[in-house]
Amino acid sequence: MLTKQVDTLVIGAGQAGLAAAYYLQQHGVEFVVLDERPAVGDVWATRFEALRLFSPAWASGLPGFSWPGSALRYPTKDEAAAYLQAYANHFRLPVQLGQRAIQLSFANDATGYRVETAAGTTYQAQRVIISTGAYSAPKQPEFATGLPPHVQQLHSSQYHQPHQISGTGPVAVVGSGNSALQIAADLATTGRPVFVAFDEAVGAFPNNQLTWVVLKKSGFLSIPRATLLGRHIMHQPEPVVRGDLQRLKQFPNAHFVGRATRATAEGALEAQRQNTPPLEAVVWATGFGPGFQWVNLPIFEPDGTPRHQRGLTAAPGVAFLGLPWLNNRSSALMGGAGPDARYVVEHLLKST
Ligand SMILES: Cc1cc2nc3c(=O)[nH]c(=O)nc-3n(C[C@H](O)[C@H](O)[C@H](O)COP(=O)(O)OP(=O)(O)OC[C@H]3O[C@@H](n4cnc5c(N)ncnc54)[C@H](O)[C@@H]3O)c2cc1C
Repeated sequence: MLTKQVDTLVIGAGQAGLAAAYYLQQHGVEFVVLDERPAVGDVWATRFEALRLFSPAWASGLPGFSWPGSALRYPTKDEAAAYLQAYANHFRLPVQLGQRAIQLSFANDATGYRVETAAGTTYQAQRVIISTGAYSAPKQPEFATGLPPHVQQLHSSQYHQPHQISGTGPVAVVGSGNSALQIAADLATTGRPVFVAFDEAVGAFPNNQLTWVVLKKSGFLSIPRATLLGRHIMHQPEPVVRGDLQRLKQFPNAHFVGRATRATAEGALEAQRQNTPPLEAVVWATGFGPGFQWVNLPIFEPDGTPRHQRGLTAAPGVAFLGLPWLNNRSSALMGGAGPDARYVVEHLLKST
């Protein structure tokens, strides 16, 4: 087995890991970025075909490198992938692809950390930044198991385009975020009945340039979670893009049924406003849970969520990036990756 020494190891080459790499490079630190995927940007490239960013290019930049093309546009998911690739190339960031970290633990001699990859390489590092995505384990409600086997079920992370779902009969999309709305609209374009189990308590915001100017300039997106106001906002449901909601409501074959509460043996969903008929398929756009089982360090809450302060953990030299509300509302957004990465890198370098 090959063992490599490196000062700092970044695990995950999405926007959070690349922003960390940018600041490590600025500080002249020796580092390597590992990613399990075959290409930088692959997480965006493999998201569903109809996906567009809800944030305009000008509000979605990483440090030191603007998006090519019009700053006012809402980029497609493939443009997001290309931007991340261009970013890594522009700064010649040392990204090692096809390297899945399968174990992170204290090094045997207690001088740092040891990371094993599925490809058989072991890394020894003084510092490790974990930027493997907010949460990576697809989550669905427990009542999903109540659906009979003939109902096709897939998580939003497995959904790419309408043809994946066979038949022409009724389908349901369960979820109260933008992904649910966009996937439901995508399915509705086929003309089949689409039942949208969307929580009506969720608000919607007008996703225009003015809104983004106000969100940015007012400082709303950077209110820290450490403040009373930040904590209050953090516990509110995330609003969705009003344009996506309105577009979906215009499809005569899209039916809003409210929050889903139970599945029946006949293959229907019971929901707050109205129950669905027996369904041919359900897409669960119900988010992700923590997926850090490969991190063998005492830095987690009992439910598996990382325990940290603005990304810094109790294990000296180990930090997280890219978690929702790592510091503020923009922490898990493209435009928020830079400020969080800067803070984490500066503090890691000062403290270890
Ligand atoms: C459908 C959807 C739409 C979104 N739209 C927007 C938007 O419009 N605007 C916006 O600002 N944000 C948006 N986001 C939120 C956020 O910007 C993205 O989720 C973004 O991909 C998060 O970046 P990240 O770097 O934290 O994680 P990721 O992009 O998930 O990158 C993590 C990287 O880590 C790698 N990795 C994971 N595990 C391992 C391992 N064990 N070993 C090695 N490598 C590993 C992965 O291959 C990946 O490359 C959206 C999110 C979703 C899900």
